[in-house]
Amino acid sequence: MSPQGAGTSAEQSDAQADGKSKFEKRKKKIEGRMALVDHVLVVLSGKGGVGKSTVAVNLAGELARQGKKVGLLDADMHGPSTPHMLDLEGTPVAADGEVMQPVGHPSGLEVMSIGFLLRQKDDAVVWRGPMKMNLLGQFLADVEWGELDYLVVDLPPGTGDEPLSICQLIPELTGGIIVTTPQEVALSDVRKCVNFCRDIELPVLGVVENMSGYVCPHCGERSDIFGAGGGKDMADQMDVPFLGQMPMDPRLVEACDAGHMFVEEYPESEASAALNGAVDTITRSAKSDNQSTKRRVMMRIAIPVANGELASHFGHCEEFRFFDVSGDEGSIEDTDAQSPPPHRPGVLPEWLKENETDVVIAGGMGRRAQQLFSEAGIDVVVGATESEPRSLVQSYLEDSLETGENLCSH
Ligand code: ADP
Repeated sequence: MSPQGAGTSAEQSDAQADGKSKFEKRKKKIEGRMALVDHVLVVLSGKGGVGKSTVAVNLAGELARQGKKVGLLDADMHGPSTPHMLDLEGTPVAADGEVMQPVGHPSGLEVMSIGFLLRQKDDAVVWRGPMKMNLLGQFLADVEWGELDYLVVDLPPGTGDEPLSICQLIPELTGGIIVTTPQEVALSDVRKCVNFCRDIELPVLGVVENMSGYVCPHCGERSDIFGAGGGKDMADQMDVPFLGQMPMDPRLVEACDAGHMFVEEYPESEASAALNGAVDTITRSAKSDNQSTKRRVMMRIAIPVANGELASHFGHCEEFRFFDVSGDEGSIEDTDAQSPPPHRPGVLPEWLKENETDVVIAGGMGRRAQQLFSEAGIDVVVGATESEPRSLVQSYLEDSLETGENLCSH
């Protein structure tokens, strides 16, 4: 290979390493945000138009009505309908640097949707896959949801790459809610959805059968236009819970179009009763799923020190100070200081990994060691110029850490 070619491939591998470290950083951020959320529910359907978003919005609304603190993430990139359904179209998103605030709804819901970021409400979203995933990663990493009892995620329709990538981006999902209509053709999609959930080990909280019959608003007679009961039969066959049947109700369309919350406006309706039943089942299974232990450490940062200050060469430090960073505000707990095992090549990445370290901030570190840390899934920051360990961590969290030359060149 020519020197030119070698340079290009080195640049490529640097770019890949850079991309990987950005990805890891984002993943850590998402873990931190989600650590403050007790239960993450995803709403999915085999195809579009079955009422997935309607169910997601109204489930979230019903949970909020019951006094829960609820976030709603509209992750449907093709048809972000949540702003319209909640009469929030055109609401500007408050942002401070990278951090975006969810948009508040009078019901108490905190909402984020790609729809808020489109210039025109009819803008088509024709981004290619990586761009979409990038934006969704950003939603999850940069939206300051704060502490939530529930985050309801309205997934894109289908069981393809997009819903899959989103589910993989979110750590510790509580469960999936599958929305279907009663026709045979939609029901075969339920099977796909259940298998999708099983493949990614996501518990199925249940199936909602939407547009299940039509009750005439004048005479009250029920007609099963698309058939009825298929969703229940399919749920039984697939051995997953059935959450209820929502009939077609013209008031649902009106409420959605007017941006009103249907469950709030028509709490006595059959559709609201079905949604209530679904919420009861979901909250019961969420309770038994002891997720409250999720409020856990967000990230652990290790700093090599000598004489109480950042050691200029991490391989020759006296000890490592560990800092646990938790919560949305990034509160720092100075956990402990430990002496590393006797020096031998490769021992520190192994030892720090055993100590659950996510990030090492160092003055200097050789390239080989950096590579070993990267292989161990630990981010490394080199060339830090501050010397006081705690303020180093603070600067790192505020993204204001100054780095100079890597003090080690081997
Ligand atoms: P999806 O998210 O699956 O694409 P939507 O939730 O956007 O579907 O619903 C599609 C349309 O069907 C919307 O206009 C919505 O108001 C309407 N709709 C959904 N469920 C019902 C229902 N039970 N009765 C009447 N209209 C409904």
